[in-house]
Amino acid sequence: MRPHVLVLAALLLAGCAAPAPAAESPPASPGELRVGGALLHAGGAAGALSLVHLAEGERADVTFPRDVLVLAPDGRLVPGGEPVTIRRGEIAQYLAPYGATSVGVRIAADGETRDETLALGPLRPFVSGERVVELMKVQEERFAHRTPGHENYSKAVAYFGEFFANLSYDVETFRTPLPDVKLPVAVGPSTQSVVSVLGYKRGLEQPDRYIVMGGHFDVVEQTTHGAFDNTGGTMAVLALAEAFAKLNTSRSLVFAAWGGEEDGILGSQAWLAAHPELVPKIDLYVNFDVTGLAWPAPLVAPASVVAATGPDGPVGDALAAHHRAVVADWMKLDAPFVYEGVGHGQLAGAGVNAQSDHTPFMARGIPVLFQFTQDIRAAFTLIHKEADTVENMTAYALHGAEGVGRPLDEAQRREGDQALARSFETQMMAGFYLAVLTDHGAMSSRPASLPALANARS
Ligand SMILES: [Zn+2]
Repeated sequence: MRPHVLVLAALLLAGCAAPAPAAESPPASPGELRVGGALLHAGGAAGALSLVHLAEGERADVTFPRDVLVLAPDGRLVPGGEPVTIRRGEIAQYLAPYGATSVGVRIAADGETRDETLALGPLRPFVSGERVVELMKVQEERFAHRTPGHENYSKAVAYFGEFFANLSYDVETFRTPLPDVKLPVAVGPSTQSVVSVLGYKRGLEQPDRYIVMGGHFDVVEQTTHGAFDNTGGTMAVLALAEAFAKLNTSRSLVFAAWGGEEDGILGSQAWLAAHPELVPKIDLYVNFDVTGLAWPAPLVAPASVVAATGPDGPVGDALAAHHRAVVADWMKLDAPFVYEGVGHGQLAGAGVNAQSDHTPFMARGIPVLFQFTQDIRAAFTLIHKEADTVENMTAYALHGAEGVGRPLDEAQRREGDQALARSFETQMMAGFYLAVLTDHGAMSSRPASLPALANARS
């Protein structure tokens, strides 16, 4: 969707009324701000692309705080801090922080300047966890058992390609032969390969710099759905691809549905090996695997989110510092995150830090982020089990591991799905902000030249 279409959509969503014929300087009603001869309609919801519209007067200059992202005319989100000029009939859009209840703005018109506070409506997240849950249910209905060798593996590959193509992204379907992996079901030689599907969105100004977000779509043989590991992470990547389709970026974006992770991180490793020219140009990789089921879930006892960053040392430390700033300053979220180096957490016995598709990126020195629940041991109730379904994730989001297998009534299912959606969003929004701010150059973790880590495990 192009920005001007988005403007109309946002206007409708925010319920911003068309400018009424001016009465004699009526008092401003809620959502209306008067400064000099200017009348502004201001709407907003937490986490949403929100707007300010100049209904009366010739022009107003609106300055958002630096920690609010403003939609620039070229479709990019840029940090606030500079005045945005709005002329009569025009609107300005800003991304209201995810956890905020209000946003302060400075408005100047007709030589008058006023500081105002815009109250934000309830959460309407730009990157939607509810969309993830919806997409996961599509996978359960249509693409169960996405194990190499099963027919739904290749059907899912086609679905991901169409999904990216529908967003006007360039699609790469990357195949690599399976090494000596014993396939559970042989359905023909054409499926004897690991396939990854990537969607590319070209950057406006630095198209040869890249930000990559990915998650593996394959599931182990012993599960039918693999909802937590890793339908959810893959759908988080698709939902992020949808969100970014409404924006422009300076750098190019790559969204990856990796195959072959469960057989040894085959898809992402092979893709990196086949694209050595891209490696020095990737500024950030964000991995989505076993996403969700952390704060604010489970509701009974919310689990902290582990934010593992790497490579360990200055690059990982810088990325962790950026992540902290994103959560506290940009998302305005008081959520419990635990920071650890990817390699360190692995050595400390956390167990999953370095066992997913970010590892081959990290091994090449690329800044990587991998978020997952600190209760990962409890979450093994689902991982690689037949019980790994959306229904059980919903039950887990309510009651924790105790809830798995417990039937839910309609009200509980709604509450559980909400908690599940919020748990996805917390991790997705952090990745979203890191990508946007890295793109803007505000949060670079990548040193100009990266040390070769050819011997790091991958
Ligand atoms: Zn996984």
